[in-house]
Amino acid sequence: MLLTITTTHQPATDLGYLLHKNPARLQSVDIAYGQAHVFYPEATAERCTAALLLDIDPIALVRNHRGPTGEGFALEQYVNDRPYAASSFLSTALAKAFNTAMNGTCKDRPELPDVSLPLEATVAALPATSTEQLRRLFAPLGYEIEVEEHPLDPTVPQWGASRYHTLRLRHSALRLRDLLSHLYVLIPVLDRGDKHYWISQDEAEKLLRRGAEWLPQHPDREFITRRYLRFAEFVNPTLKRLLALDAEASDDASEPLAELTAISDATGAAAAETAAKQNLHDLRLDRVAEEIKGIGATRVLDLGCGEGKLVRRLLKNPKIEHILAMDVSWRELERAQQRLHVAEMPPRQRERLTLTQGSLLYHDPRLAGYDAAAVVEVIEHLDESRLAAFEEVVFARARPGTVFVTTPNADYNQRYESLAAGDFRHHDHRFEWTRAQFTAWAEGVAERHGYRVRVEPLGPAEAEVGAPSQLAVFEVG
Ligand code: SAH
Repeated sequence: MLLTITTTHQPATDLGYLLHKNPARLQSVDIAYGQAHVFYPEATAERCTAALLLDIDPIALVRNHRGPTGEGFALEQYVNDRPYAASSFLSTALAKAFNTAMNGTCKDRPELPDVSLPLEATVAALPATSTEQLRRLFAPLGYEIEVEEHPLDPTVPQWGASRYHTLRLRHSALRLRDLLSHLYVLIPVLDRGDKHYWISQDEAEKLLRRGAEWLPQHPDREFITRRYLRFAEFVNPTLKRLLALDAEASDDASEPLAELTAISDATGAAAAETAAKQNLHDLRLDRVAEEIKGIGATRVLDLGCGEGKLVRRLLKNPKIEHILAMDVSWRELERAQQRLHVAEMPPRQRERLTLTQGSLLYHDPRLAGYDAAAVVEVIEHLDESRLAAFEEVVFARARPGTVFVTTPNADYNQRYESLAAGDFRHHDHRFEWTRAQFTAWAEGVAERHGYRVRVEPLGPAEAEVGAPSQLAVFEVG
Protein backbone atom coordinates (compact mmCIF):
# COMPACT_ATOMS: atom_id res chain seq x y z
CA MET A 1 0.00 0.00 0.00
CA LEU A 2 1.16 3.45 -0.84
CA LEU A 3 0.62 6.85 0.66
CA THR A 4 1.97 10.02 -0.91
CA ILE A 5 2.01 13.50 0.56
CA THR A 6 2.65 16.49 -1.66
CA THR A 7 3.09 20.16 -0.93
CA THR A 8 3.54 23.23 -3.11
CA HIS A 9 4.49 25.37 -0.14
CA GLN A 10 7.60 27.39 -1.01
CA PRO A 11 10.21 26.02 -0.75
CA ALA A 12 8.42 22.70 -1.08
CA THR A 13 11.45 20.79 0.16
CA ASP A 14 10.57 22.04 3.66
CA LEU A 15 8.52 18.85 3.64
CA GLY A 16 11.77 16.98 4.19
CA TYR A 17 12.46 18.94 7.39
CA LEU A 18 8.93 18.47 8.57
CA LEU A 19 8.92 14.73 8.01
CA HIS A 20 12.42 14.50 9.38
CA LYS A 21 13.37 12.50 6.33
CA ASN A 22 16.00 13.64 3.86
CA PRO A 23 14.55 13.87 0.32
CA ALA A 24 17.84 12.66 -1.14
CA ARG A 25 17.77 9.28 0.53
CA LEU A 26 15.59 6.18 0.64
CA GLN A 27 14.92 5.29 4.25
CA SER A 28 13.31 2.20 5.70
CA VAL A 29 11.95 1.37 9.10
CA ASP A 30 10.94 -1.99 10.47
CA ILE A 31 7.34 -2.39 11.46
CA ALA A 32 5.51 -5.40 12.74
CA TYR A 33 5.37 -7.99 9.92
CA GLY A 34 7.32 -5.97 7.42
CA GLN A 35 9.00 -2.73 6.46
CA ALA A 36 7.97 0.81 5.60
CA HIS A 37 10.01 2.70 3.02
CA VAL A 38 10.08 6.47 2.69
CA PHE A 39 11.26 8.13 -0.49
CA TYR A 40 10.61 11.24 -2.54
CA PRO A 41 9.43 10.78 -6.16
CA GLU A 42 9.85 14.54 -6.60
CA ALA A 43 11.68 17.15 -4.54
CA THR A 44 11.99 20.57 -6.12
CA ALA A 45 11.52 23.99 -4.59
CA GLU A 46 8.11 24.21 -6.31
CA ARG A 47 6.70 20.81 -5.50
CA CYS A 48 7.77 18.03 -3.20
CA THR A 49 6.20 14.59 -2.71
CA ALA A 50 7.04 12.08 -0.01
CA ALA A 51 5.92 8.50 -0.41
CA LEU A 52 5.40 5.89 2.26
CA LEU A 53 5.38 2.39 0.87
CA LEU A 54 4.43 -0.54 3.02
CA ASP A 55 5.85 -3.92 2.43
CA ILE A 56 4.04 -6.47 4.57
CA ASP A 57 5.27 -10.02 4.76
CA PRO A 58 2.09 -12.16 4.55
CA ILE A 59 3.82 -15.27 5.80
CA ALA A 60 5.18 -13.56 8.90
CA LEU A 61 1.68 -12.27 9.50
CA VAL A 62 0.17 -15.71 9.52
CA ARG A 63 2.96 -17.19 11.58
CA ASN A 64 2.69 -14.60 14.28
CA HIS A 65 -0.97 -14.03 14.42
CA ARG A 66 -3.34 -16.84 15.24
CA GLY A 67 -7.02 -16.16 14.98
CA PRO A 68 -9.02 -15.25 18.06
CA THR A 69 -10.07 -18.84 18.59
CA GLY A 70 -6.51 -19.98 18.26
CA GLU A 71 -6.92 -21.78 14.95
CA GLY A 72 -3.54 -22.24 13.38
CA PHE A 73 -4.29 -22.80 9.76
CA ALA A 74 -7.05 -21.64 7.48
CA LEU A 75 -6.89 -20.65 3.89
CA GLU A 76 -8.41 -17.31 4.77
CA GLN A 77 -5.36 -16.52 6.81
CA TYR A 78 -3.20 -16.73 3.72
CA VAL A 79 -5.57 -15.30 1.19
CA ASN A 80 -6.68 -11.91 2.47
CA ASP A 81 -6.13 -8.28 1.72
CA ARG A 82 -3.91 -7.48 4.68
CA PRO A 83 -0.68 -7.06 2.74
CA TYR A 84 -2.29 -4.87 0.09
CA ALA A 85 -5.02 -2.73 1.60
CA ALA A 86 -4.51 0.44 3.56
CA SER A 87 -5.28 -0.64 7.12
CA SER A 88 -4.15 -0.27 10.68
CA PHE A 89 -0.69 -1.26 9.46
CA LEU A 90 -0.46 1.97 7.57
CA SER A 91 -1.27 3.87 10.75
CA THR A 92 1.39 2.02 12.63
CA ALA A 93 3.87 2.77 9.87
CA LEU A 94 2.88 6.44 9.83
CA ALA A 95 3.46 6.71 13.53
CA LYS A 96 6.80 5.01 13.28
CA ALA A 97 8.21 6.65 10.16
CA PHE A 98 6.84 10.15 10.84
CA ASN A 99 6.83 10.17 14.59
CA THR A 100 8.45 13.58 15.04
CA ALA A 101 6.17 15.17 12.46
CA MET A 102 3.08 13.69 14.11
CA ASN A 103 4.16 15.13 17.42
CA GLY A 104 4.56 18.53 15.82
CA THR A 105 8.26 18.87 16.47
CA CYS A 106 10.98 19.89 14.05
CA LYS A 107 14.42 20.36 15.55
CA ASP A 108 16.01 22.17 12.63
CA ARG A 109 13.06 24.47 11.89
CA PRO A 110 10.98 24.71 15.07
CA GLU A 111 8.47 27.15 13.54
CA LEU A 112 7.56 24.87 10.62
CA PRO A 113 5.14 22.44 12.32
CA ASP A 114 2.77 25.31 13.10
CA VAL A 115 2.68 26.56 9.54
CA SER A 116 -0.42 25.71 7.53
CA LEU A 117 0.58 24.38 4.13
CA PRO A 118 -1.15 23.47 0.91
CA LEU A 119 -1.19 19.69 1.17
CA GLU A 120 -2.31 16.82 -0.98
CA ALA A 121 -2.39 13.19 0.08
CA THR A 122 -3.14 10.10 -1.96
CA VAL A 123 -3.91 6.75 -0.38
CA ALA A 124 -4.12 3.74 -2.61
CA ALA A 125 -6.22 0.66 -1.93
CA LEU A 126 -8.28 2.19 0.81
CA PRO A 127 -11.24 -0.02 1.68
CA ALA A 128 -14.59 1.73 2.15
CA THR A 129 -18.22 0.75 1.80
CA SER A 130 -18.80 3.63 -0.59
CA THR A 131 -17.44 6.81 -2.03
CA GLU A 132 -19.98 8.55 0.16
CA GLN A 133 -18.43 7.06 3.27
CA LEU A 134 -15.05 8.53 2.38
CA ARG A 135 -16.65 11.92 1.83
CA ARG A 136 -18.49 11.81 5.11
CA LEU A 137 -15.33 11.08 7.01
CA PHE A 138 -12.93 13.48 5.33
CA ALA A 139 -15.08 16.40 4.14
CA PRO A 140 -15.86 17.76 7.62
CA LEU A 141 -12.11 18.11 8.15
CA GLY A 142 -11.96 20.64 5.33
CA TYR A 143 -10.61 18.51 2.51
CA GLU A 144 -11.43 18.65 -1.13
CA ILE A 145 -11.93 15.02 -2.05
CA GLU A 146 -11.46 12.95 -5.15
CA VAL A 147 -12.23 9.25 -5.10
CA GLU A 148 -11.51 6.61 -7.67
CA GLU A 149 -13.47 3.41 -7.22
CA HIS A 150 -11.63 0.29 -8.31
CA PRO A 151 -13.59 -2.47 -10.08
CA LEU A 152 -13.57 -5.92 -8.58
CA ASP A 153 -12.16 -7.25 -11.81
CA PRO A 154 -11.58 -4.86 -14.71
CA THR A 155 -12.08 -7.70 -17.18
CA VAL A 156 -15.54 -8.56 -15.80
CA PRO A 157 -17.36 -5.23 -15.57
CA GLN A 158 -20.67 -6.80 -14.50
CA TRP A 159 -19.11 -7.70 -11.16
CA GLY A 160 -19.12 -4.03 -10.34
CA ALA A 161 -16.98 -2.15 -7.89
CA SER A 162 -14.70 -3.58 -5.25
CA ARG A 163 -14.43 -1.97 -1.85
CA TYR A 164 -11.02 -0.52 -2.68
CA HIS A 165 -10.59 3.11 -3.55
CA THR A 166 -7.86 5.55 -4.34
CA LEU A 167 -8.47 8.60 -2.22
CA ARG A 168 -7.01 11.99 -3.02
CA LEU A 169 -7.30 14.68 -0.36
CA ARG A 170 -6.47 18.33 -0.91
CA HIS A 171 -6.32 21.08 1.66
CA SER A 172 -5.28 24.65 0.96
CA ALA A 173 -3.86 25.35 4.41
CA LEU A 174 -3.31 22.64 6.97
CA ARG A 175 -0.60 21.73 9.44
CA LEU A 176 1.14 18.56 8.35
CA ARG A 177 0.58 16.97 11.73
CA ASP A 178 -3.17 17.43 11.35
CA LEU A 179 -3.12 15.60 8.04
CA LEU A 180 -1.11 12.79 9.60
CA SER A 181 -3.44 12.54 12.59
CA HIS A 182 -6.51 12.42 10.37
CA LEU A 183 -5.04 9.59 8.32
CA TYR A 184 -3.74 7.81 11.39
CA VAL A 185 -7.20 7.60 12.92
CA LEU A 186 -9.44 7.32 9.88
CA ILE A 187 -7.60 4.67 7.87
CA PRO A 188 -8.17 1.94 10.45
CA VAL A 189 -11.72 3.20 10.96
CA LEU A 190 -12.41 2.49 7.30
CA ASP A 191 -10.83 -0.89 7.38
CA ARG A 192 -13.58 -3.47 7.69
CA GLY A 193 -11.17 -6.32 8.23
CA ASP A 194 -12.21 -8.08 11.39
CA LYS A 195 -8.70 -9.10 12.21
CA HIS A 196 -7.01 -6.57 14.37
CA TYR A 197 -3.33 -6.24 14.61
CA TRP A 198 -3.01 -3.43 17.06
CA ILE A 199 0.24 -4.08 18.67
CA SER A 200 -0.12 -2.82 22.18
CA GLN A 201 -2.20 -0.88 24.63
CA ASP A 202 0.16 1.97 24.04
CA GLU A 203 -0.83 2.00 20.40
CA ALA A 204 -4.49 2.26 21.27
CA GLU A 205 -3.86 5.13 23.63
CA LYS A 206 -1.91 6.98 21.01
CA LEU A 207 -4.85 6.60 18.71
CA LEU A 208 -7.13 8.19 21.24
CA ARG A 209 -4.73 11.06 21.62
CA ARG A 210 -4.36 11.66 17.89
CA GLY A 211 -8.06 12.32 17.64
CA ALA A 212 -8.28 14.66 20.60
CA GLU A 213 -8.08 17.90 18.64
CA TRP A 214 -10.66 17.21 15.97
CA LEU A 215 -12.66 14.09 16.71
CA PRO A 216 -15.03 15.68 19.24
CA GLN A 217 -16.16 18.21 16.61
CA HIS A 218 -16.56 15.65 13.84
CA PRO A 219 -20.23 14.98 12.96
CA ASP A 220 -19.43 11.28 12.63
CA ARG A 221 -17.47 11.11 15.85
CA GLU A 222 -19.64 8.33 17.21
CA PHE A 223 -19.18 6.10 14.19
CA ILE A 224 -15.45 6.80 14.21
CA THR A 225 -15.16 6.06 17.89
CA ARG A 226 -17.17 2.86 17.62
CA ARG A 227 -15.17 1.65 14.66
CA TYR A 228 -11.78 2.18 16.13
CA LEU A 229 -12.89 0.79 19.41
CA ARG A 230 -13.05 -2.62 17.77
CA PHE A 231 -9.31 -2.47 18.06
CA ALA A 232 -8.92 -0.60 21.28
CA GLU A 233 -11.42 -2.75 23.10
CA PHE A 234 -9.48 -5.83 22.19
CA VAL A 235 -6.35 -4.37 23.66
CA ASN A 236 -7.66 -2.43 26.56
CA PRO A 237 -11.25 -2.65 27.81
CA THR A 238 -10.66 0.31 30.08
CA LEU A 239 -10.13 2.51 27.10
CA LYS A 240 -13.66 1.82 26.03
CA ARG A 241 -14.96 3.26 29.24
CA LEU A 242 -12.76 6.28 28.88
CA LEU A 243 -13.90 6.87 25.35
CA ALA A 244 -17.48 6.43 26.31
CA LEU A 245 -17.00 9.23 28.80
CA ASP A 246 -15.94 11.40 25.94
CA ALA A 247 -13.81 11.10 22.87
CA GLU A 248 -11.94 14.04 24.22
CA ALA A 249 -10.79 15.59 27.41
CA SER A 250 -14.01 16.07 29.17
CA ASP A 251 -14.45 15.80 32.80
CA ASP A 252 -11.46 17.00 34.65
CA ALA A 253 -13.54 16.89 37.75
CA SER A 254 -12.49 13.40 38.53
CA GLU A 255 -9.08 13.77 36.92
CA PRO A 256 -9.81 10.79 34.65
CA LEU A 257 -6.65 8.97 35.60
CA ALA A 258 -8.39 8.50 38.87
CA GLU A 259 -11.33 7.37 36.80
CA LEU A 260 -9.07 4.77 35.28
CA THR A 261 -8.03 3.54 38.67
CA ALA A 262 -11.62 3.40 39.77
CA ILE A 263 -12.64 1.40 36.73
CA SER A 264 -9.86 -1.11 37.08
CA ASP A 265 -11.41 -2.40 40.22
CA ALA A 266 -11.34 0.27 42.85
CA THR A 267 -9.42 -0.58 45.91
CA GLY A 268 -10.21 1.45 49.00
CA ALA A 269 -7.17 3.65 48.47
CA ALA A 270 -7.94 4.38 44.83
CA ALA A 271 -11.55 5.18 45.64
CA ALA A 272 -10.38 7.55 48.33
CA GLU A 273 -8.03 9.18 45.85
CA THR A 274 -10.87 9.62 43.38
CA ALA A 275 -13.04 11.23 46.00
CA ALA A 276 -10.20 13.50 47.04
CA LYS A 277 -9.68 14.62 43.47
CA GLN A 278 -13.36 15.33 43.04
CA ASN A 279 -13.27 17.46 46.13
CA LEU A 280 -10.19 19.16 44.80
CA HIS A 281 -12.02 20.19 41.68
CA ASP A 282 -14.94 21.56 43.71
CA LEU A 283 -12.46 23.43 45.79
CA ARG A 284 -10.85 24.99 42.72
CA LEU A 285 -14.20 26.05 41.33
CA ASP A 286 -15.43 27.41 44.68
CA ARG A 287 -12.24 29.35 45.08
CA VAL A 288 -12.42 30.95 41.64
CA ALA A 289 -16.13 31.76 42.12
CA GLU A 290 -15.28 33.40 45.45
CA GLU A 291 -12.45 35.44 43.94
CA ILE A 292 -14.76 36.64 41.17
CA LYS A 293 -17.31 37.67 43.80
CA GLY A 294 -14.51 39.37 45.71
CA ILE A 295 -13.65 41.73 42.88
CA GLY A 296 -17.31 42.51 42.23
CA ALA A 297 -17.17 41.51 38.56
CA THR A 298 -20.37 42.00 36.56
CA ARG A 299 -19.31 40.60 33.19
CA VAL A 300 -17.44 37.30 33.34
CA LEU A 301 -15.83 34.95 30.85
CA ASP A 302 -15.54 31.23 31.53
CA LEU A 303 -13.00 30.05 28.99
CA GLY A 304 -12.86 26.29 28.41
CA CYS A 305 -16.06 26.05 30.46
CA GLY A 306 -16.46 22.28 30.00
CA GLU A 307 -19.81 21.08 31.27
CA GLY A 308 -20.48 24.30 33.11
CA LYS A 309 -19.53 23.58 36.70
CA LEU A 310 -18.19 27.06 37.23
CA VAL A 311 -21.10 28.62 35.35
CA ARG A 312 -23.50 27.03 37.83
CA ARG A 313 -21.67 28.79 40.65
CA LEU A 314 -21.44 32.09 38.81
CA LEU A 315 -25.16 32.13 38.08
CA LYS A 316 -25.76 32.15 41.83
CA ASN A 317 -23.86 35.42 42.13
CA PRO A 318 -26.51 38.14 41.65
CA LYS A 319 -23.90 40.79 40.97
CA ILE A 320 -22.99 39.10 37.69
CA GLU A 321 -25.01 40.45 34.79
CA HIS A 322 -23.51 38.42 31.99
CA ILE A 323 -21.49 35.25 31.60
CA LEU A 324 -19.92 34.20 28.32
CA ALA A 325 -18.97 30.54 28.63
CA MET A 326 -16.91 29.17 25.78
CA ASP A 327 -15.51 25.78 24.94
CA VAL A 328 -14.03 24.20 21.86
CA SER A 329 -15.92 20.97 22.39
CA TRP A 330 -19.49 20.79 21.14
CA ARG A 331 -20.05 17.74 23.25
CA GLU A 332 -19.12 19.62 26.41
CA LEU A 333 -21.39 22.51 25.46
CA GLU A 334 -24.32 20.15 24.93
CA ARG A 335 -23.63 18.66 28.27
CA ALA A 336 -23.47 22.10 29.87
CA GLN A 337 -26.78 23.01 28.30
CA GLN A 338 -28.38 19.93 29.80
CA ARG A 339 -26.80 20.13 33.21
CA LEU A 340 -27.61 23.79 33.62
CA HIS A 341 -31.17 23.20 32.33
CA VAL A 342 -30.76 26.11 29.98
CA ALA A 343 -33.95 25.22 28.09
CA GLU A 344 -36.03 25.51 31.26
CA MET A 345 -34.43 28.70 32.56
CA PRO A 346 -36.68 31.71 33.02
CA PRO A 347 -35.91 34.24 30.26
CA ARG A 348 -34.21 36.69 32.63
CA GLN A 349 -31.80 34.04 33.78
CA ARG A 350 -31.23 32.76 30.30
CA GLU A 351 -30.26 36.20 29.11
CA ARG A 352 -27.47 36.29 31.64
CA LEU A 353 -25.72 33.38 29.95
CA THR A 354 -24.19 32.80 26.54
CA LEU A 355 -22.84 29.33 25.88
CA THR A 356 -20.77 29.33 22.76
CA GLN A 357 -18.28 27.30 20.81
CA GLY A 358 -14.87 28.75 20.17
CA SER A 359 -11.18 28.12 20.53
CA LEU A 360 -8.82 29.97 22.80
CA LEU A 361 -6.15 29.70 20.17
CA TYR A 362 -7.80 32.11 17.73
CA HIS A 363 -8.58 35.75 18.18
CA ASP A 364 -12.25 36.17 19.00
CA PRO A 365 -13.68 39.69 19.24
CA ARG A 366 -16.62 38.39 21.31
CA LEU A 367 -14.25 38.04 24.25
CA ALA A 368 -13.53 41.76 24.60
CA GLY A 369 -15.12 43.96 27.27
CA TYR A 370 -15.25 41.67 30.32
CA ASP A 371 -14.21 42.39 33.92
CA ALA A 372 -12.99 38.91 34.67
CA ALA A 373 -12.06 35.65 32.98
CA ALA A 374 -11.76 32.20 34.49
CA VAL A 375 -9.54 29.64 32.78
CA VAL A 376 -9.89 26.66 35.10
CA GLU A 377 -7.83 23.56 34.28
CA VAL A 378 -7.61 24.43 30.61
CA ILE A 379 -4.08 25.54 29.70
CA GLU A 380 -2.64 22.07 30.26
CA HIS A 381 -4.95 20.84 27.48
CA LEU A 382 -3.30 23.16 24.96
CA ASP A 383 -0.11 22.20 23.18
CA GLU A 384 2.73 24.03 24.84
CA SER A 385 3.74 25.40 21.46
CA ARG A 386 0.30 27.06 21.18
CA LEU A 387 0.41 28.87 24.51
CA ALA A 388 1.74 31.97 22.79
CA ALA A 389 -1.46 32.06 20.74
CA PHE A 390 -3.56 31.62 23.89
CA GLU A 391 -1.62 34.44 25.55
CA GLU A 392 -2.26 36.72 22.58
CA VAL A 393 -5.97 35.90 22.49
CA VAL A 394 -6.63 36.41 26.20
CA PHE A 395 -4.08 38.93 27.42
CA ALA A 396 -3.40 41.03 24.32
CA ARG A 397 -6.79 41.01 22.58
CA ALA A 398 -9.62 40.18 25.01
CA ARG A 399 -7.87 41.88 27.97
CA PRO A 400 -10.27 41.17 30.84
CA GLY A 401 -9.64 43.23 34.00
CA THR A 402 -8.74 40.14 36.01
CA VAL A 403 -7.80 36.68 34.77
CA PHE A 404 -7.85 33.56 36.95
CA VAL A 405 -5.83 30.64 35.61
CA THR A 406 -5.58 27.31 37.41
CA THR A 407 -3.48 24.29 36.49
CA PRO A 408 -2.22 21.14 38.24
CA ASN A 409 0.96 21.39 40.27
CA ALA A 410 3.29 18.68 38.96
CA ASP A 411 5.36 18.81 42.16
CA TYR A 412 2.37 17.25 43.89
CA ASN A 413 1.97 14.29 41.53
CA GLN A 414 4.19 12.01 43.58
CA ARG A 415 1.44 12.05 46.21
CA TYR A 416 -0.93 10.22 43.85
CA GLU A 417 -0.36 6.53 44.28
CA SER A 418 -2.05 5.66 41.00
CA LEU A 419 0.30 7.90 39.03
CA ALA A 420 3.65 6.57 37.82
CA ALA A 421 6.55 9.03 37.86
CA GLY A 422 6.35 11.35 34.86
CA ASP A 423 2.71 10.50 34.12
CA PHE A 424 0.08 13.14 33.74
CA ARG A 425 -3.20 13.22 35.63
CA HIS A 426 -5.27 13.16 32.48
CA HIS A 427 -4.71 11.54 29.11
CA ASP A 428 -5.31 14.81 27.29
CA HIS A 429 -2.89 16.89 29.33
CA ARG A 430 -0.10 18.12 27.10
CA PHE A 431 2.06 19.18 30.03
CA GLU A 432 1.87 19.58 33.78
CA TRP A 433 3.95 22.29 35.34
CA THR A 434 5.83 22.52 38.59
CA ARG A 435 5.22 25.57 40.74
CA ALA A 436 8.41 27.15 39.41
CA GLN A 437 7.38 26.60 35.79
CA PHE A 438 3.88 28.00 36.25
CA THR A 439 5.18 31.03 38.13
CA ALA A 440 7.79 31.74 35.46
CA TRP A 441 5.14 31.54 32.72
CA ALA A 442 2.66 33.69 34.65
CA GLU A 443 5.24 36.36 35.39
CA GLY A 444 6.30 36.43 31.75
CA VAL A 445 2.71 36.85 30.57
CA ALA A 446 2.04 39.59 33.12
CA GLU A 447 5.11 41.50 32.11
CA ARG A 448 4.48 41.24 28.39
CA HIS A 449 0.91 42.49 28.66
CA GLY A 450 0.85 44.98 31.49
CA TYR A 451 -0.73 42.82 34.20
CA ARG A 452 0.28 42.24 37.83
CA VAL A 453 0.22 38.62 38.93
CA ARG A 454 0.23 36.53 42.08
CA VAL A 455 0.49 32.74 42.09
CA GLU A 456 -1.06 30.80 44.95
CA PRO A 457 -1.41 27.20 46.04
CA LEU A 458 -4.85 25.68 45.55
CA GLY A 459 -5.89 22.90 47.89
CA PRO A 460 -4.28 21.65 51.09
CA ALA A 461 -0.54 22.41 50.85
CA GLU A 462 2.18 20.05 52.00
CA ALA A 463 5.70 21.03 52.98
CA GLU A 464 7.75 19.67 50.10
CA VAL A 465 5.37 19.28 47.22
CA GLY A 466 2.96 22.15 47.81
CA ALA A 467 -0.75 21.96 46.99
CA PRO A 468 -2.34 19.73 44.32
CA SER A 469 -3.30 22.68 42.16
CA GLN A 470 -2.18 26.24 41.59
CA LEU A 471 -3.90 29.53 40.81
CA ALA A 472 -2.54 32.63 39.10
CA VAL A 473 -4.49 35.87 39.47
CA PHE A 474 -3.64 38.48 36.85
CA GLU A 475 -4.84 42.05 37.34
CA VAL A 476 -4.56 44.62 34.62
CA GLY A 477 -2.60 47.81 35.19
N1 SAH B 1 -13.10 24.65 33.10
C1 SAH B 1 -13.86 23.41 33.18
C2 SAH B 1 -13.37 22.31 32.23
C3 SAH B 1 -11.93 21.94 32.34
S1 SAH B 1 -11.50 20.62 31.21
C4 SAH B 1 -13.86 22.92 34.59
O1 SAH B 1 -13.03 23.36 35.35
O2 SAH B 1 -14.69 22.10 34.94
C5 SAH B 1 -10.72 21.50 29.92
C6 SAH B 1 -11.68 22.07 28.94
O3 SAH B 1 -10.94 22.87 28.00
C7 SAH B 1 -12.42 21.04 28.10
O4 SAH B 1 -13.80 21.25 28.22
C8 SAH B 1 -11.92 21.28 26.69
O5 SAH B 1 -12.92 21.06 25.72
C9 SAH B 1 -11.53 22.74 26.74
N2 SAH B 1 -10.57 23.13 25.71
C10 SAH B 1 -9.49 22.44 25.29
N3 SAH B 1 -8.87 23.14 24.33
C11 SAH B 1 -9.56 24.29 24.13
C12 SAH B 1 -9.42 25.40 23.26
N4 SAH B 1 -8.44 25.46 22.39
N5 SAH B 1 -10.33 26.39 23.35
C13 SAH B 1 -11.35 26.33 24.23
N6 SAH B 1 -11.52 25.30 25.07
C14 SAH B 1 -10.65 24.29 25.03
